Amino acid sequence: MKQFWHKLKDECALLLRGYRLVFQIGKGKELLLQAGQSALTALSPLITLYFSGQIIDELAGARDSRHLLDLAALTVSVNLVLLLLKNFLNRKREADASTTWSDVYMVFARKLLSMDYEHVEDVRVHERLDQIKQLHNWSGNGLLRLIYNMNELAEGFVGAASSIALSIGLFSLTVGNPAGAAELFASHWGTALLALLLLICLMVFFICSKIEAKTMGSMAEPMTLGNRLFRYFYWTLPNDHKLGKDVRLYGERKLLREEMEEAGNFIYRFFRKVALKLGSVEAVSASMPYLMSLFVYLVVLSKAYLGLIGIGGVVTYVGAVNRFATGCQKLFHGLSELFANNLHLRRLFEFLDLHNEKYNGTLPTEKRDDGEYLIEFHDVSFRYPNTETYALRHLNLKLKIGERLAVVGRNGSGKTTMIKLLCRLYDPTEGCITLNGIDIQKYNYQEYLDLFSVVFQDFHLFSFELGQSVAASMSYDEQRVRNSLKEAGLEERLAQMPHSLHTYLNKDFDEEGVEVSGGETQKIAIARALYKDAPFLVLDEPTAALDPVSEFEVYRKFSKISGNKTSVCISHRLSSCRFCDRIAVFQKGELVQIGSHDDLLQEESSHYHALWDAQAQYYDEEESHLLLG
Ligand code: ADP
Repeated sequence: MKQFWHKLKDECALLLRGYRLVFQIGKGKELLLQAGQSALTALSPLITLYFSGQIIDELAGARDSRHLLDLAALTVSVNLVLLLLKNFLNRKREADASTTWSDVYMVFARKLLSMDYEHVEDVRVHERLDQIKQLHNWSGNGLLRLIYNMNELAEGFVGAASSIALSIGLFSLTVGNPAGAAELFASHWGTALLALLLLICLMVFFICSKIEAKTMGSMAEPMTLGNRLFRYFYWTLPNDHKLGKDVRLYGERKLLREEMEEAGNFIYRFFRKVALKLGSVEAVSASMPYLMSLFVYLVVLSKAYLGLIGIGGVVTYVGAVNRFATGCQKLFHGLSELFANNLHLRRLFEFLDLHNEKYNGTLPTEKRDDGEYLIEFHDVSFRYPNTETYALRHLNLKLKIGERLAVVGRNGSGKTTMIKLLCRLYDPTEGCITLNGIDIQKYNYQEYLDLFSVVFQDFHLFSFELGQSVAASMSYDEQRVRNSLKEAGLEERLAQMPHSLHTYLNKDFDEEGVEVSGGETQKIAIARALYKDAPFLVLDEPTAALDPVSEFEVYRKFSKISGNKTSVCISHRLSSCRFCDRIAVFQKGELVQIGSHDDLLQEESSHYHALWDAQAQYYDEEESHLLLG
């Protein structure tokens, strides 16, 4: 029993937290409007019942036409007012509901944007978010359920409570001596039996609701899988235009159809199982009001037969008690869905509670006009979270002020990891990195990031206006944007843009947006890094999507582009690195050589020599071709 109360307390606390979040994201108003609208929906038939009883009693009794007219007018006007009020609330609620989805999705987006980068790269975090989104999308669960369920809860609660108020009179009128069957039903015994039956019905509702909640809860996992399959086959695949080629060339149509049928069958089998189980439980709970109404008829008719209540009372009380039963049914159903939804709420909060472990220092970074920022790696080793092997080992490296450093090595040798540590996307597992002698963790994180202009291999540009994309801001200095684009080699392309800097990239926001090629996008990303004009310029294979001519151009201009900044450039093309002051050679997570191109080549048995030899002939041919046109 203690465990039951403990669990109930836990579940209620979770619900409360959910509702608090609903209010925090500004959906409290929608919730209240929905509650008000549903309360009016529940009240309206009870008011009609009450006045109908009064009218019938008047017709069977005094037959005062004036009173009858007053009652009819009152019934119509109260209902009219309720209707108008309900419509008004509904319109207001609909306006508020238009942003519900985006407000809920904003909760996910905010978390994603503010979490430690290591969580962003963690596939398990994405899987969890995917699951949460699916349950919101396809079944309206999670936060959405809290909002949508208010309807049923408020209607059920107000319906049940107002029915009790309306039927109080029925129980206060009793006969003292139960001589026959009619007297028995009209006595306190009848009332007690009715109360007992009511209690039994409520218990059955409660049990049914619990079974429903449990069934729905146990279906969460298969439902997620079903949703995922559905989304893949009917959403992702049809929207993927690349699919058309492969399906034709490999004759995959049959395979695809069979797989889709299999997935369709799975979804059907799943829903059938749920429907059968829930259907039978719902049938039991739905039959309860009818069982009760049978007994209510006996009590009410006995009292009417014995003259305790008039015909109007019969209409009012029978209606009221039946409404009480249906109100309870709604309330319990709403509650059971709400508690079943806690499973999804818990998942949501697990995601939102992922805490940021990165230490955010408070020290401001020095603002230096001379760009004298010295970065040093001190015996830095690093393992990615949840992995055993080190991606970097014992790295000692000084980024000399104003130098151009190239970083080379085979795939997986730790080059990008080094950049991620430099930009504090991750913190070292061992050792430390210093900026002007102070551990970079002690600096204010945002101020530290402001020191870097980085173009990652997997950079991202939004489909905003070109000028905004380069400046990463709504307002910008047009001339500086133009200069950055020119330096990145996009001057000619800019001249062709229909609205110059105000041209939208891609067509997501604007029909007239221009589709830019992979290479052009990469140049825009380089221009964005140049516009930021930070003391460190970091390029992680910035030319991977460029054609050989553009790539050669970027590297040729590299020293001009980087100006007096300290720059780090990862490249898979060793010939390009000759433009740099020093070359750092990585192998299996270790820095194995560092020096100028000529120095490194002199060590004949070195890793750099081997890499160079492997590419040299290709470069010679390619470069002479490029240089000679
Ligand atoms: P490079 O840039 O030289 O190609 P990386 O720095 O990207 O190499 O990768 C170094 C090693 O770290 C590789 O073994 C790679 O598989 C591993 N690695 C990279 N990113 C992650 C990650 N997010 N989680 C786990 N391991 C990773």
